Amino acid sequence: MKEFSISRPFDAHVHGREGALLKKIGPMTARQFWGAIFEPNLAQPVTTAARGKEYLREICEACGSHFQPYLLAYLTDEIDPEDLLAGIDEKTFIGMKFYPRGATTNSHNGVADVRSLFTRGTRPYEAIQVCAAAGKVVQLHCELNFSLNGDELDPYHKEAYFFREIMPRLRDEHPDARFSCEHISCLEAVSFMRRYGGEKLGCSITPHHLLHDRRDMFRGGLHPHLYCLPVIKSQRHNASLCRFIAKGYPFVYAGTDSAPHDRHKKECDCCSARRIRQSSCMRKRSLARMRSIIASSDSCRSTGQLSMTWNRPASV
Ligand SMILES: [Zn+2]
Repeated sequence: MKEFSISRPFDAHVHGREGALLKKIGPMTARQFWGAIFEPNLAQPVTTAARGKEYLREICEACGSHFQPYLLAYLTDEIDPEDLLAGIDEKTFIGMKFYPRGATTNSHNGVADVRSLFTRGTRPYEAIQVCAAAGKVVQLHCELNFSLNGDELDPYHKEAYFFREIMPRLRDEHPDARFSCEHISCLEAVSFMRRYGGEKLGCSITPHHLLHDRRDMFRGGLHPHLYCLPVIKSQRHNASLCRFIAKGYPFVYAGTDSAPHDRHKKECDCCSARRIRQSSCMRKRSLARMRSIIASSDSCRSTGQLSMTWNRPASV
């Protein structure tokens, strides 16, 4: 069998946005899916049961009565665990979503220090405990901008770092919690899921992380519409995802991560004059760094500490 179709699938990860945009795109989701989990990262995130109730009503109005939406609370450093529990009890929330602050769109209210997830006494810790006791899921955006030591992480390694350094501690500290790792995109995530995936740990995978690898983003120039977070990785990561889903594990599910942006903003953010100016500054910094490396390699070579020779680029 090379092909199969699902007549009315479920979308485990969608960004419905709000207002006029929700009215426009909500019906599109409802045409394709029988139900979906809506992400709470609006410009003003959904952090309380009262706001959740309101937002769920907006989604229902936009999507129609035949469609079943589910909603998550947005985890912040100040979340009120009692309010979260009230939202769960009244069936507004089916769980909550962790965004590391600054990691993706509208994550400015996200958790500032990931360590609070496994530090007793913090509100994020208590909120995870509330979800665990209620049997509700904690969705995770599995990337960090900075390592625990404060070093800025390479965009292609952010997710691997999270699975190596954060996931084991989360599982140890919250053995009863149900975690869902969202839009996994790398080999390290696949290895982790193969080993620990099950009733308490699941993951979603997007179509775009299966259909593309990073060559597509750079082929013939930069393609801003293939820029997403986590970034699309290289071919070997893509191949590992494809092999992984072919196994048919019950803890792996589809999430489109459909997250509409205004076209001009998407293209502007990647290719604007502002970005070009930024990359020109970056190029200057890179050239300066290269010069200093060459200078140090010259001095090392003269003292016999470096056997490698540097071919100085013509443009330097
Ligand atoms: Zn998303």
